[in-house]
Amino acid sequence: MVQKEIQDFIEKCKKEKLSVTPQRIIIYKELLGNRNHPSPEDVYNAIKEENPTISFATVYNTLETFEKHGFIKKVTPLHNKVRYDPVTEPHHHLVCVKCGKIVDIEANKIKSIEIPKEIIGNNLFIDYTIRINMVCSDCLKKENNNNTN
Ligand SMILES: [Zn+2]
Ligand SMILES: [Zn+2]
Repeated sequence: MVQKEIQDFIEKCKKEKLSVTPQRIIIYKELLGNRNHPSPEDVYNAIKEENPTISFATVYNTLETFEKHGFIKKVTPLHNKVRYDPVTEPHHHLVCVKCGKIVDIEANKIKSIEIPKEIIGNNLFIDYTIRINMVCSDCLKKENNNNTN
């Protein structure tokens, strides 16, 4: 599976005239395997041990490049910390307002909404993302523990 996705990645790079470097493959692989919508720091921390020659700046710039070419999407649901999403098809997000955890919700799990024409106006509609805010069960547990202590 991952092998096929890497093959697709290499094809996409060729189409976009991006060179396929070992660093780019490592960073892309980490993104594919990470469904937590990682920040650049998260990606860097996940790969630095095995790849000590990759700098944070490289990770940061590579993610920006991937985003520019549509390989990944930026998610900025809370605060202004950039998080990246390897899933580029439209889908929704469940977001913990305490810890910032972001969980994907498949688009077809939520009844689609109709967007009134007057809202679209003369703009070009692309897609929409629903963000459901919550306090996740881990954070609730922590809160409960703090209350009883
Ligand atoms: Zn949480
Ligand atoms: Zn997502």
